[in-house]
Amino acid sequence: MEKIKMTTPLVEMDGDEMTRVIWKMIKDELLCPFIDLKTEYYDLGLEYRNQTDDQITIDSAEATKKYGVAVKCATITPNAARMTEYNLKQMWKSPNGTVRAILDGTVFRAPILVKGIEPYVKNWVKPITIARHAYGDVYKGAEMKIPGAGKVELVYTAEDGSETRELVHDFKSAGIVQGIHNLEPSIESFARSCFNFAIDTKQDLWFATKDTISKKYDHTFKDIFQEIYDTEYKEKFEALGLEYFYTLIDDAVARVIRSNGGYIWACKNYDGDVMSDMLATAYGSLSMMTSVLVSPKGVYEYEAAHGTVQRHYYKYLNGEETSTNSIATIFAWTGALRKRGELDNLPELSAFADKLEKACIDTVESGKMTKDLALITTLEDVTPLNTEGFIKAVRETLEASL
Ligand code: NAP
Ligand code: MG
Repeated sequence: MEKIKMTTPLVEMDGDEMTRVIWKMIKDELLCPFIDLKTEYYDLGLEYRNQTDDQITIDSAEATKKYGVAVKCATITPNAARMTEYNLKQMWKSPNGTVRAILDGTVFRAPILVKGIEPYVKNWVKPITIARHAYGDVYKGAEMKIPGAGKVELVYTAEDGSETRELVHDFKSAGIVQGIHNLEPSIESFARSCFNFAIDTKQDLWFATKDTISKKYDHTFKDIFQEIYDTEYKEKFEALGLEYFYTLIDDAVARVIRSNGGYIWACKNYDGDVMSDMLATAYGSLSMMTSVLVSPKGVYEYEAAHGTVQRHYYKYLNGEETSTNSIATIFAWTGALRKRGELDNLPELSAFADKLEKACIDTVESGKMTKDLALITTLEDVTPLNTEGFIKAVRETLEASL
């Protein structure tokens, strides 16, 4: 069989530990035999980030801007223990944070559904995609403990020196106070990323805040979304039969639980933090979540939602058998290849991505899966496989389908 040709390279961001091991297996077994794989390779493994003073991460993000599509392996975000383990010059920042800051994007996370891994919420027959705003609010808050009686005010000093004040509270006892902020350009980017992704994936978009209580802060989020929808997206949504739906956050939570899924749920930063863990757990497993960063300019970076699976990597280094689930990492590749196919008008490439995803799902549904899934499946006839065994099983399913 002739290999599928590519015209524009994918930006390939390699990573760390067990996911780095899987990365190579996926390329060797599932991609290179079928595709004339064109990538521009960036090694975001911690050793090379340290060697290049993290310049490699910045370069990979710039390359993503240039080519439009990247696929990223999970990477270590250094902490004190990693400083010693890797003899680091500095506690380098999270690569995801660095890339996100350069691309100015929103992260969309969605579960991969397979029969036999049943969501806790029985009516969730389609995936719910969470879009989390990744700037500001309590994550960039200023806080104070108030020791006793006294007045707390918000003070805005304009560049001309004029002041605007708002009383927070006239304290009669000790207490606490918090100041949070957000930026209109960041909320606008968030809104555009969400509307674009909804159109891309042909799903409705839901957004919710607490605007009835927070009449300026949350209401501004609501107003910005509505304004951008009305002026830039309404027609496109209507042409595709899609809906933009705004409601209060508590109403949204109730509706989400009753729903069948199949939409994007845009969340403010804190709501997204909490709700994405709730959703990942309710759908069954973090190893079955995809994640894509979408910039407001339409640049895409695909990855798995889980980390580098450090515990499995140490076993692997010890020569012990591992059973690490590679599905989310495979879906990062298929997401990127499908997008490349769409942008470059290579239907064969997109079709291959579809077939590889289907091969993963069919393999699990036939009872062949890694241990994490074997533990929670409702299927009866299950063959637990090791890391490599699962990838080989997917290859067999894939070859049979080509
Ligand atoms: P993790 O890599 O997500 O793994 C936590 C545990 O979840 C694993 O020990 C394993 O449980 C299970 N698990 C996760 N993915 C799995 C998979 N594909 N197959 C099977 N089981 C899976 O989180 P972590 O151990 O807390 O973090 C390790 C490193 O990843 C850290 O250095 C962190 O900085 C980094 N990280 C990177 C990203 C990213 O690049 N996007 C995201 C999060 C964390 P069992 O051990 O019980 O089998
Ligand atoms: Mg969290």
